Amino acid sequence: MSKQLILALSKGRILDETLPLLADAGICPTEDLKKSRKLLFDTNLANVKLVVIRASDVPTYVQLGAADLGVAGKDTLLEHGAEGLYEPLDLEIARCKLMTAGIRDARPAGPRRRVATKFVSVARSYYAQRGIQAEVIKLYGAMELAPLMNLADEIVDIVDTGNTLRANGMEPREVIASISTRLVVNQAAMTMKHRQLKPLIERLREAVDNRR
Ligand code: ATP
Ligand code: MG
Repeated sequence: MSKQLILALSKGRILDETLPLLADAGICPTEDLKKSRKLLFDTNLANVKLVVIRASDVPTYVQLGAADLGVAGKDTLLEHGAEGLYEPLDLEIARCKLMTAGIRDARPAGPRRRVATKFVSVARSYYAQRGIQAEVIKLYGAMELAPLMNLADEIVDIVDTGNTLRANGMEPREVIASISTRLVVNQAAMTMKHRQLKPLIERLREAVDNRR
């Protein structure tokens, strides 16, 4: 009997780029993920099921073994931490940058910089490493609003084109990390289910290589 594998997908932006890549790798859900309200899906591969969950929850599902492997943005992985996870493959999709940004031509912040972000842990270590005193304020969305409303001096957020920033009178400042989507695997599963996981990872690796 072959062991079941659960693959956790990030919904939202990453999902749109993940599904064609999975298809290239020969992994296809048996129904349309986007038209369904279900969260758990069968695929054409008898031993592979998909779950579609919030991007920021994928590392947790995989770390704790509720899913054997997952597709997650490097930003969420940096924020979550690597404990219990292997990251065998860069899927090279949903590329963007994790950056600081602030109001264009703003006066320098006071001695203690107020930073709004959903990447609290990444932001804390980034400013600490630079010896900058920062008060990190956790937000869940619309980070661009925080400096405009004088809630913060700066934000740490995902930047692609920078158009959203510019539309709000802001400018990108420093790059903290280049981001792309990664395949992550539960460390225990990598041992226990190696025979099932290995060919799946290799299929995905080939699909990524074939796109170069
Ligand atoms: P939630 O709503 O659960 O907080 P989210 O807002 O992070 O999720 P998305 O906006 O879909 O959800 O972003 C998910 C992931 O997609 C991010 O973690 C990042 O890796 C990637 N991503 C976000 N914005 C961009 C972008 N502009 N270009 C490319 N990739 C992006
Ligand atoms: Mg979003």
